[in-house]
Parts: sequence; C-alpha cells; structure tokens
Amino acid sequence: MRSVSMPSAAGSGLEPGFRGVICASFGVTGDTAGHDTGDRPRHDLRFVSANPEALADLRSVLGCSHVGVRLVLAGPPADIRAAAAAAAECGLLEEEMTLLCDEAGPRVVYCPHCRARTTVGAAGTEAECSGCATTLFIADHFSRRMGAYLGYSAHVEEAS
Ligand SMILES: [Zn+2]
Repeated sequence: MRSVSMPSAAGSGLEPGFRGVICASFGVTGDTAGHDTGDRPRHDLRFVSANPEALADLRSVLGCSHVGVRLVLAGPPADIRAAAAAAAECGLLEEEMTLLCDEAGPRVVYCPHCRARTTVGAAGTEAECSGCATTLFIADHFSRRMGAYLGYSAHVEEAS
C-alpha cells in the first residue's frame, strides 16, 4: 500500500542549523504549498491536527533549528493557535511566523471581558462567550499575539 508521497513529518530529516522556512500545515484544508518561500530552502510538515504528538514534533524541529528560521502555519485557526503557542515557547518571535488561517474552519474568538476563548463556526459573526455569556461580535482582526480573533461586546446592556 502506498501512501501519499509526503516526507515524514517527524523531526528527522531536518539538518541542525536549518535556516530556511518550515511550513507546517494542519487538517485536510491546511495547505502551505502555495506559500512562496523565495529562494530559501523549505521543510514541509503535515499534521492531521495540532495534537500533543504533532506539537512535540514541531517543537523538536524548531529545537534543532537556529536563529533565522521562519515558520509558516496553515490550517484551522484553533490548530494554528496551538502551534504558534508551541513555536513561541521554542523562542520564535511573532514576526518570524506567518499564519495562514483557513477561514472556512472553526474560529477561536477571544473575549476581552473574561479572556475566555470560544470556538465558533466559520459563518458566524456573533457568538456567545463560553466564559461570561456576553454576546460577542467577531472582529475581522486576527490577533497573532492572542492566537484568536478579537471579540467585542455586541450589546452593552448589563451595568456592572
Ligand atoms: Zn467572556
């Protein structure tokens, strides 16, 4: 039985001191193939989701790369958020990451009131916060720092 000719996603295969672009995609729709890395060498990783095993692989790859590496993440925002957080733990800076969000997937909305993160479907423009039940409008702005879309209160009705 032959599987897709995709290089092993494990930490192997990446030489120490790699200074190119690491392209990690998640899920069935996450695709970094269209991302132009210019003349920099690229190393492709593909994961089903940002599960603990995938994040461990990602950490091991980033752990053996040097300063100067760039990371491209593609897939559902929830997976990208987890992967970006793992990369940040490995010392990658925000400007060293490119996040290609799959807008068709579920999105994560950050609540400014209680800081809870709520996962909502792609179509919704409003969501009820899972933390404080505030109705949140979902801003178009995706915060890389938060790893989530910023929500803002849709109705200011309760006086606190
Ligand atoms: Zn909230």
